[in-house]
Amino acid sequence: MTTHRVYNFGAGPAALPLPVLERVRAELLDFRGTGMSILESSHRGPAYSAVHESATARLRSLLGGADNHEILFMTGGARTQFSALAMNLLTADGRAGYVITGRWSEGALEAARRVGEAVELWSSAGSSHDRVPQDEIEVPDDLAYLHYTTNNTIYGTQVAEPLESGDVPLVADMCSDILSRPLDVDRFGVIYAGAQKNLGPAGVTVVLVRRDLLERSPADLPDTLSYSKMAAKKSLLNTPPVFAIYMVDLVLEHLQSQGGLEAVAERNRAKAESLYAAIDGSGGFYRGHARPECRSKMNVAFRLPSAELDEAFVAEAAEAGLAGLKGYRSVGGIRASIYNATSAEAVTALVEFMGEFARREG
Ligand code: PMP
Repeated sequence: MTTHRVYNFGAGPAALPLPVLERVRAELLDFRGTGMSILESSHRGPAYSAVHESATARLRSLLGGADNHEILFMTGGARTQFSALAMNLLTADGRAGYVITGRWSEGALEAARRVGEAVELWSSAGSSHDRVPQDEIEVPDDLAYLHYTTNNTIYGTQVAEPLESGDVPLVADMCSDILSRPLDVDRFGVIYAGAQKNLGPAGVTVVLVRRDLLERSPADLPDTLSYSKMAAKKSLLNTPPVFAIYMVDLVLEHLQSQGGLEAVAERNRAKAESLYAAIDGSGGFYRGHARPECRSKMNVAFRLPSAELDEAFVAEAAEAGLAGLKGYRSVGGIRASIYNATSAEAVTALVEFMGEFARREG
């Protein structure tokens, strides 16, 4: 039986590299000669320990060492990090600054306000989050940290370079663009990302914490939410999500085999460019949401001339084997997510479909 696979443009959980899925299938029943599945292996045993160490080492290698940071594998998704971050870093007399570029940064700010004082320093809400800041934020130097979202999954905007925060620790939600391009980890105090877009399956959240910030974790935090306790136990304080971490390790190995982050970034740039060219060349039939200088290379959000046409586009695309193109539930329109694992071939198929649809309906 041949396996039926569509081109998957879903925002997350998102497409995974086919060779990774095939490897998982091949190793599922007998993990590397152990006679059992990795799903059945003890998280303290040698088979899983090797996977855990490998995932950490590959991540370090792809990120150029990240020698000043601890790498944590946590659970509860990015939303749990919205709270955990503030619980660990926002001390009683401190105040955190937030850059609001979409729903996820709003959620992060709300969560921090339940913990302590957090202020909004900049917002794109007035223009439907169609842009991100360009060197225009005044960062008070007494902040506990400055938080922003590097890529806005819903609105399709992306911050090109790390924000300037002086001596204030910079914190980034990188859920939807981590490992999509080279990253200077030393610019950041904390980076967090749920795995389910660029790193692997849902179930694990990767958190990088600069070591000097671990001292801020209050002693009375729940163990599994404490950055310092998780770091002290190398993320093996309790049972980690072993299967998700195993798959992250395979995705990282795949990225390494593709030439690392420079090569990945170049492929992502070319994919995004062809999709935006299809939008810009449509004579106004397709209208991108983001301002051109703020466009994301991961999520391309656009609209057709009417909500009815948006709907017809999504339905007909699905019939043509192009899945997951419906925009975020509260925003509407179309969103094509083109993370690392989305092939150039998938993007070409979408661009062709867009051309045909516009000729027919435009
Ligand atoms: N931040 C960003 C940028 C996201 O895209 C998402 C999920 N789409 C989240 C946070 C929330 O992640 P989770 O569902 O893992 O809590």
